[in-house]
Amino acid sequence: MSLQVFGMAVSRGVAIGRAVLVASSRVDVAHYFVGDERIEAEIGRLRQARDAVVAELESLKTELPPEAPHEIAAVLDVHLMLLHDEALIAASEGWVRERRYNAEWAVSAQLEVLARQFDEMEDLYLRERRADVEQVVERLLRELAGQPPAPVLAPGPGPGDSGEAPLVLVANDVAPADMLQFKRSVFTGFVTDVGGRTSHTAIVARSMDIPAVVGARESSRLIRQDDWVVIDGDAGVVIVNPSNIVLEEYRFRQRQSQLERARLDRLRHTPAVTLDGEPVELLANIELPGDAAGALEAGAAGVGLFRSEFLFMNRGGDLPGEDEQFEAYRAAVLAFAGLPVTVRTVDIGADKPLERMSQQELRHEHGLNPALGLRAIRWSLSEPGMFRQQLRAILRASAYGQVRILIPMVAQLREIKLVFEALARARQQLEDAGRPYGAVEVGAMVEVPAAALLIDRFLRYFDFVSIGTNDLIQYTLAIDRADDAVAHLYDPWHPAVLQLLHRTIAGANAAGRGVSVCGEMAGDVAFTELLLGMGLRSFSMHPARIPSVKQRVLRADSRKLSHMLPRVLESDNPSEVMRLAMLDRLAH
Ligand code: PEP
Ligand code: MG
Repeated sequence: MSLQVFGMAVSRGVAIGRAVLVASSRVDVAHYFVGDERIEAEIGRLRQARDAVVAELESLKTELPPEAPHEIAAVLDVHLMLLHDEALIAASEGWVRERRYNAEWAVSAQLEVLARQFDEMEDLYLRERRADVEQVVERLLRELAGQPPAPVLAPGPGPGDSGEAPLVLVANDVAPADMLQFKRSVFTGFVTDVGGRTSHTAIVARSMDIPAVVGARESSRLIRQDDWVVIDGDAGVVIVNPSNIVLEEYRFRQRQSQLERARLDRLRHTPAVTLDGEPVELLANIELPGDAAGALEAGAAGVGLFRSEFLFMNRGGDLPGEDEQFEAYRAAVLAFAGLPVTVRTVDIGADKPLERMSQQELRHEHGLNPALGLRAIRWSLSEPGMFRQQLRAILRASAYGQVRILIPMVAQLREIKLVFEALARARQQLEDAGRPYGAVEVGAMVEVPAAALLIDRFLRYFDFVSIGTNDLIQYTLAIDRADDAVAHLYDPWHPAVLQLLHRTIAGANAAGRGVSVCGEMAGDVAFTELLLGMGLRSFSMHPARIPSVKQRVLRADSRKLSHMLPRVLESDNPSEVMRLAMLDRLAH
């Protein structure tokens, strides 16, 4: 039966494929296809893991002390029984054989099928057996983690000529760090039940340029394993088991957007200059040094935001040391060969915890309002040793190219003082150790209204500023950007947001300092003309957005845009004024 689920459009385009349901806690399980020649070996891994878990449980059983409650032995028996049950192991082997899923993916897929069956059981006792299957699968996954996996096939729609359908991922939630796994995975789109438009999960989806819908509340319950799914990333709709007519329509749109993309790609080497001759810098936002190649290919003139925190996530407490960080920053700097690379110091906290957590766990663990808590520069200043270590790594990388340091979420003048003290000490430590380092510009992110209001004072200390509109909107309007319940109130067009933006850009221009926007607004063509009209000449965005923004820049006349700015800023409905002004311009 066909059905539609509505959510929020976070990453454009259309994805059509079969649903792969993944429980949030298992999103980090590797998903890849095994080649034909590896299928038997992969099944061998699965059986080996099963045998090892059976042996582990049997030895647990024999070692049970006589006084242990007999329920424990009963649970172990249930688990052993499950490990011999066709419904788990044989069916998982089926996923490997028929779909060429790797062993971990196969058992997770089968778990989803079984979990649904248990959920639908009338009998409470049987329904609760779902937890047993989950525990057994966790053991299998742990065991598999210790075994060498098969070589990973290139991501794509499936094993080459077998005619397999592309796959889309459906989950309750996906942590930002898990999204990094997807960069190497097989999914061509994803849907989650929770999340907001500028949650970091959505941001990473955009950076991967794969269609995605978040906040599609019931999706992981309504969609079943293997359902055909269309993800309309423009409208924020997910269509489950569409009719042939609808499917055809979407296939047509998919082809159209591929053509449009190919057309825009031709702009790659065209300099971004407005009609009235104003050069505009289009920079890339990256998460890992490996993103550099794609950014250069898209025509990025450097990196405006390297979200360094992604190097720190999901490492089980083992954070990257100075040398490891240095290698990562240097790799990006070398890849950009003389173009600027702006490394933001870690922005851990809020919806980017160090370890994988759901939004609920986050709130539980870090208090009710993690977005207002110990995050970004506050976190770095609370860990001074680690902060200096990161600063040393960035300073060392600056010996290899043009590096800028960007400090996230500065709000207090005292924080500025502490940042520069830490920098001075980091430099001194490098001097003492005889390690080379280069000159760096130091900038602040303008992400809280306090920074925008005090822009003139901030610019006494910083060489440049970069406006993080995602947070600036969140903190100006008091809307948690990761909370889908208030996502409809998250409004980049809000007159208060526009005033703060304008104030910051004008202040920096007047002081002769660099200013860019690196939040999602920079890559959204709905705002290109407005930002140009405000005097912005540097935009940092996901590489995939660069060609579309460049096209808007090439067609814009910055003088005319700045003339209409007062009307937009004074209006109660700025987006409408802007829309009418653009229509008017098109007509003349
Ligand atoms: C922002 O807040 O706009 C920004 C670019 O930083 P992040 O999205 O990583 O918080
Ligand atoms: Mg931010």
